[in-house]
Amino acid sequence: MDSCIFCKIVDGTIPAKKVYEDEDMVAIEDINPVAPHHLLLIPKKHVVNALDLTPEDDRLVGRVFRVAAEIARQRGVDERGFRIVQNSNADAGQSVFHIHFHLLAGRHLGWPPG
Ligand code: 5GP
Ligand code: ZN
Repeated sequence: MDSCIFCKIVDGTIPAKKVYEDEDMVAIEDINPVAPHHLLLIPKKHVVNALDLTPEDDRLVGRVFRVAAEIARQRGVDERGFRIVQNSNADAGQSVFHIHFHLLAGRHLGWPPG
């Protein structure tokens, strides 16, 4: 996807602070963090949001959650707690239409979200 900002981050055309990369995904620091730890886990494949996932993506989504938990462990926020968020479409506040998972930690995260 030529015009997709996260495809450009994945291929390095747009710079980002990458904290993790494997053949299927990257994790970057969010440009506008809303918590002391705010990472975006981004599959390299251009999928729009949860509605666009296919059965062949099941492994990928599982990996995203495992990597998020590993990053939380490495950062020492595992015991206090962390949140993984995926926003799909307008009411959820999706602003970048390439699927990504927020990893939020380092402060008390209210529930329900606003
Ligand atoms: P959404 O609202 O779609 O769930 O989340 C999009 C997230 O991407 C936002 O938290 C926003 O701050 C982040 N973001 C948007 N553009 C960029 C960018 O160019 N670089 C980085 N690192 N984060 C971005
Ligand atoms: Zn994309």
